[in-house]
Amino acid sequence: MKMKKVLLILVDGMRPDALTACGHPLAAQMLETGRCFLQAQTVMPSVTLPCHMSLFHSVTPDRHGILTNTYVPQVRPVRGLCETLRAAGKTCAMFYNWEELKDLSRPDALTFGCYVSGHVYGYEEANPRLTAIAKAYLTSDAPDFAFVYLGWTDAAGHKDGWMSEEYLRAMRGSWDCIAQLCDGLSEDYLVIVTADHGGHGRSHGSDLPEDMTIPILCRNAKLPAGKPAGGSILDLAPTVCAVLGVAPDAEWEGAPLPLEAQ
Ligand SMILES: [Zn+2]
Repeated sequence: MKMKKVLLILVDGMRPDALTACGHPLAAQMLETGRCFLQAQTVMPSVTLPCHMSLFHSVTPDRHGILTNTYVPQVRPVRGLCETLRAAGKTCAMFYNWEELKDLSRPDALTFGCYVSGHVYGYEEANPRLTAIAKAYLTSDAPDFAFVYLGWTDAAGHKDGWMSEEYLRAMRGSWDCIAQLCDGLSEDYLVIVTADHGGHGRSHGSDLPEDMTIPILCRNAKLPAGKPAGGSILDLAPTVCAVLGVAPDAEWEGAPLPLEAQ
C-alpha cells in the first residue's frame, strides 16, 4: 500500500538541535527511524507569517509579498497548496492556534478549519486543546491533507530564550501533542514534522543559521531511514502534492523532497 495522504505538523520556532535537547522519546525515535532533513532552510525574513506563506505557496517572500506578520492580499497571486489540492478534488483541514494563519488559504479551499486562541487560553493550554480537536477529526474524517500548527515553543522562546529550559519544556509538550496525533494514525499518512524558522536569544528574523535552519522529519513505515542533505521550506507544498498525486502549480519554486532511497 502506498502513502496517499499527508499530516503536516508545524512546531513554531523549532530548531533542529532542540529535537535531541528536549529529551522527548518520540523526537528521538523519529530522528532514528525517520527520513530527516536536519539542515533544511527557511526563507528571509525568518518570521512566522512570511515563512508560512512560502510554505503554502512554494515561492520566496519577495515573490508572494508578505514580508511581516501582517497579511496583505498578494498583488500577483500565486496559487496556494490548499487551492491546488481542492481543485484536484482533495480534502484539506487546517488546525492552528495563531490567528494570523487564517489567510494561508483562500475561501472555499478548506473542508474543515479550526482555530483555538493561543492569546486567550495561553499556548500551553491551546496546544493540547487544538490537538484533541485535530485528533478527533483525523479519526472521523481522514482528510487527504491536514495541517496542524503548534505555537507554544515560539512564545516560550520569545519569553525565556531559544534553548532555555522553558523553551525545551514547550518542546516536550509539543511532542506530546505530536505523539497523540500519530498514535493509531493510518499508514496512508506521510507524517511531516517541521518548523517555520528557528531562533536565537529571544528572537528570530535574521539570516543567522540559528534562525534559518529548520528540521523536516518524515515518518512512514514505507520510507527508508536516513539523513539526506538539503531541503527547503519551499519543498513542502510540492512534496504534499507528489504524495497525493496532484500536479504542483507551475509557478512554484520548490521541488519534492527525495523521500525514496536513492
Ligand atoms: Zn516568533
